Amino acid sequence: MDVVLTGTGSPIPDPNRAGPSALVKAGDTHILIDAGRGVVMRMAGAGSLPAFLSGVLITHLHSDHVCALNDVITTHWVMSQGNATLRIWGPVGIAEFVERQMHALEPDIGYRMAHHEELSEPPRVDVTELEPGDSFEIGEVRVTTAATEHAPVRPTIGFRLEHDGATAAIVGDTLPCDGVDELARDADVYVQTVIRRDIVEAIPNEMIQDILDYHSGVVEAAQTAARVGARRLALTHMVPSPAPDQYPDWIARAADHFTGEIIIGDDLTTITI
Ligand SMILES: [Zn+2]
Ligand SMILES: [Zn+2]
Repeated sequence: MDVVLTGTGSPIPDPNRAGPSALVKAGDTHILIDAGRGVVMRMAGAGSLPAFLSGVLITHLHSDHVCALNDVITTHWVMSQGNATLRIWGPVGIAEFVERQMHALEPDIGYRMAHHEELSEPPRVDVTELEPGDSFEIGEVRVTTAATEHAPVRPTIGFRLEHDGATAAIVGDTLPCDGVDELARDADVYVQTVIRRDIVEAIPNEMIQDILDYHSGVVEAAQTAARVGARRLALTHMVPSPAPDQYPDWIARAADHFTGEIIIGDDLTTITI
């Protein structure tokens, strides 16, 4: 199983980091987790395309995690020539979000249907709203879910994906919590969105300071990884985004608490497990 970090950015625009998303490739099963800014471009870089997707999993409805879902829907529709259904799973609220996206796309859908005989109907999407604890199969991959803690954003859901003895936990934006522990227990890779608490605390801006109460810091992610026996910790969605010469410092801070492999995500970093 390959876990490709298709976007390692945050809401803060960065020329080198697309918005948050990850692509899991397990045999012929491709699963996208979240759909941040630029995701379709990075999927192409990862050797995939929306038309190859067996499913899309959404952790929560913060805009940085879903703002390019409309591009996934449209590109899937056009490149499959209207012959495939895009399956989407997410927290309660995802069905209405997708329905409203479809309304926003109505002019485009009309133009393309008028112009291409192959497109005889609007994009086919099949949306499932999840409750924490739900589990299901997508192709060859077993998916389990748990509630995460990102209040006031509610509900939020993290994912554990298992295939052929390999396990990846991709949990989205969250404080450390029981749900994350459950998902990441003994995982081959635990992917966590993080902030650098020490740096953010020193930035004299209230809106920046607000993020402290609903994200894991680097130290907390490392403590979680150690507590649950994860084999690798991959950091993504880093705030503030580090330059490569700062990676050793980020790794050292995590390594004080976790002895497994620590990966600082770049766009298209691929973790094979
Ligand atoms: Zn968020
Ligand atoms: Zn986020």
